[in-house]
Amino acid sequence: MAEDTIFAKIARGEISADIVYEDEVCVAFRDINPQAPTHILVIPRDPLSGLTDPATTPETLGHLASVCVRVAHEAGIADDGYRVVVNAGRNGGQSVAHLHFHILGGRAMAWPPG
Ligand code: AMP
Repeated sequence: MAEDTIFAKIARGEISADIVYEDEVCVAFRDINPQAPTHILVIPRDPLSGLTDPATTPETLGHLASVCVRVAHEAGIADDGYRVVVNAGRNGGQSVAHLHFHILGGRAMAWPPG
């Protein structure tokens, strides 16, 4: 399980965030330092440390991915396309040790990512 991160506190409602969607499994909120016109994070309520946490299940990953699709649609970025990113570990650029999917949209994305 993950350490008690700022995302765990957001999931518990102890720290405010600009929440755009929530259900019994996850919370989606706007990134505080957006890298695109629309930048939303989707996190599980369970404090999973990331993709490689042994407690991260296919069911959780599938739910988070489907919520990304829903949130992107509701945010109005789906028609033009968007990017979903999960940074995993140090080389992946993960800075918060709580599993999160980034949804980025509202502009064209470059490839390869930096
Ligand atoms: P990563 O580098 O993949 O771990 O992404 C962490 C993301 O969390 C970054 O894009 C940060 O801007 C974002 N972030 C950090 N703290 C907060 C916060 N309190 N509310 C919203 N987003 C945050």
